[in-house]
Amino acid sequence: MSISIVRVSKAAEIGILLERHRGAAKVLAGGTDVLVQIRNGNISPSILLDISQVGELRSVEFNLNEVSIGAGVSLSELVESEEIKSEFPSIWAAAKEVGSEQIRNLATIGGNLANGSPAADLTPPLVSLDAELSLLGPEGSRRIAVVDLVVGPGQTRLGPSEIIHSVHIPRQCERQGDVFIKVGKRKALAISVANVSASVCLSEDRQKFESVQLAFGSVGPKVVRAFVCEEALRGRSIDNRSIELALKQLDKEISPIDDIRATARYRRIVCKRIAKQAVQQAVQLVQERS
Ligand SMILES: Cc1cc2nc3c(=O)[nH]c(=O)nc-3n(C[C@H](O)[C@H](O)[C@H](O)COP(=O)(O)OP(=O)(O)OC[C@H]3O[C@@H](n4cnc5c(N)ncnc54)[C@H](O)[C@@H]3O)c2cc1C
Repeated sequence: MSISIVRVSKAAEIGILLERHRGAAKVLAGGTDVLVQIRNGNISPSILLDISQVGELRSVEFNLNEVSIGAGVSLSELVESEEIKSEFPSIWAAAKEVGSEQIRNLATIGGNLANGSPAADLTPPLVSLDAELSLLGPEGSRRIAVVDLVVGPGQTRLGPSEIIHSVHIPRQCERQGDVFIKVGKRKALAISVANVSASVCLSEDRQKFESVQLAFGSVGPKVVRAFVCEEALRGRSIDNRSIELALKQLDKEISPIDDIRATARYRRIVCKRIAKQAVQQAVQLVQERS
């Protein structure tokens, strides 16, 4: 079967082409997921819409209230950004953990999210930071929360002719810190066995947790926010006992499975460990900044 590759130059054209070739066309960004899926016979598009040269999708803007990252920005570009590293260390760390340098040079933030994998490393930090997405289709654009994008493995709320245009992360206050920790089977080229992102905001006197947001990957059909644990930490003093007590509730919130990468039991144990570390390290980040 032959595949035509159509290089698109404007974001607005993508939805129109997806609509015109509904069912036959697929978006190609970095290709690190899509080409593997074609090779494995999971999908068989006859047209690939190459969006890698759409300039509008490749910018990073630091606005007053939010930072906007185009869907076509590569993970290497995120890793190279000193601003992203200092302002959103969890996003920076997640990007750095993906695949290998060659993969990161091609892989985009939009592709990582749109692929809908529960193990996608960029999703937990964006969920824990309350990030939103601009979606663009032939009918115009709309915004949704990143946490609402994925419905289940490989399934998203993107319409058939819609694309992710950009990711918007609210700028955080000086009492906030965020950390991403991934557990894989190897140090490189490893899909997450489990991962966590913690975004912590301390009280003005830096003695208590004002709020904590915890997002876990690879522990259910989609990324999970641990709302019960988060609530248990709200207003608590910053010590190991508060963190351990709160994380006792984690078992009720995650639903990991046994698979080729790890057992459910191992994932439950490791999630508590990395969540504790992530919260502690996020607190440390804020204290170092003060
Ligand atoms: C060897 C290897 C190692 C990997 N390791 C990791 C890892 O450690 N962690 C991890 O999270 N991932 C990993 N991946 C998966 C992959 O690299 C990432 O998910 C990557 O970010 C996908 O981005 P892409 O630009 O290559 O997407 P593509 O392959 O181009 O597209 C992926 C999917 O998203 C759709 N799409 C792309 N862009 C958009 C858009 N803007 N709007 C709507 N739909 C869009 C495509 O149609 C396709 O369905 C690995 C892959 C390989 C091959």
